[in-house]
Amino acid sequence: MFALLAELPRESVIDVTGTVRRSEKSNRGVELLPARIEVLARAGVPLPLGVVDRVSADLDTRLNHRVLDLRKPEVRAIFEVRSAVLAGFREAFLERGFLEIETPKLLRAGAEGGATLFAVDYFGGPAYLAQSPQLYKQMLIGAGFERVFEIAPAFRAEPSDTVRHLTEFGSLDAEMGYIDDVEDVRRMLEEVLAAAIRAARRRLADTGNPHVDRLPEVRTPFPRIPFSTAEEWLGRAGAGLDFGTEDEKVIGERALQEHGNPFYYLTDFPTSVKERTFYAQRQDADPSRTWYFDLDYRGVEIVSGGAREHRLERVIANMRSAGLDPASFEGYLEAFRYGMPPHGGWGLGVDRLVMVLLGLGNVREARLFPRDRYRLDP
Ligand code: ATP
Ligand code: MG
Repeated sequence: MFALLAELPRESVIDVTGTVRRSEKSNRGVELLPARIEVLARAGVPLPLGVVDRVSADLDTRLNHRVLDLRKPEVRAIFEVRSAVLAGFREAFLERGFLEIETPKLLRAGAEGGATLFAVDYFGGPAYLAQSPQLYKQMLIGAGFERVFEIAPAFRAEPSDTVRHLTEFGSLDAEMGYIDDVEDVRRMLEEVLAAAIRAARRRLADTGNPHVDRLPEVRTPFPRIPFSTAEEWLGRAGAGLDFGTEDEKVIGERALQEHGNPFYYLTDFPTSVKERTFYAQRQDADPSRTWYFDLDYRGVEIVSGGAREHRLERVIANMRSAGLDPASFEGYLEAFRYGMPPHGGWGLGVDRLVMVLLGLGNVREARLFPRDRYRLDP
């Protein structure tokens, strides 16, 4: 047996029969005296990536050999946190009367049209991969499913190569009907997010997961920072332009300094920024603003959401000013034609959330087999 083990390559799979007994010498306090060892699967040599060594290879090499990379306990532990957070969300949603839904990922048209759609050949005709469940979750509100949520992949043809963009990402979407105003949505979001993280911490306590202690304390309510205030911080009051990555960093630092919370809402996005977002409700008192918000964590956008436009004529007008043809959205518009309650919701990037919660440097580390501009394998 000694000879066998001495020549057996690392990472091979063996079946051992023997006696377990207490031992002071071993770190685990027990040792196994083998009576028989059977080799179930011999590992090839050399390993393309060390498994027992510390994580030191560059991310590209790790992702190229992801199965071996995932064998490292501290890498696997990321996905234990992810699973626990998602379980926490599901629990929090179900307790609050949300129904879990699954909407189609093959579509005839995208939510906002535009450049980030992946076209697929659908029996010789055009179809697209869903970049968001947006239109379908709203249609289900029209179907009388008062509160819904979905956890599913979304697809974006993002040609940019950044540490926070993937071409396939986990999207956690929620939509709720009969809201009084957008605050109902923001309160629900901070409540389920805080509950999910608390639940994850509970679930992973005493499992030895090395990341649990990194999960931040979530203090709600999160600060609400109007878009216009953030513009003032940037020294460009009233510009009505979207924030870039550098702007977001500045805002994140200032928000932390003023409010002492790494989480913060940016509220009341100007219509000029959300022009293409035809489902974003414009404010009645000031149509140059919407009821749209982001939730950011230290300068990284995690969530976008808001109150939706539920009045048919206004949805159509918004489509027209976005340069979209209402006729190609008939299936969606029908939901508004026969009684659509006021509603709102959000889309949260699961990979981004896990990235910021665990302080990972790259969103790819939070996804098992990430897809990006340059990666479709493994
Ligand atoms: P960004 O401006 O950062 O590209 P976005 O505003 O285009 O994001 P939304 O359409 O608001 O993204 O999508 C909702 C959430 O989904 C985002 O807040 C983010 O967490 C996540 N998300 C969006 N696009 C991606 C992507 N390409 N890769 C990973 N997560 C994404
Ligand atoms: Mg957004």
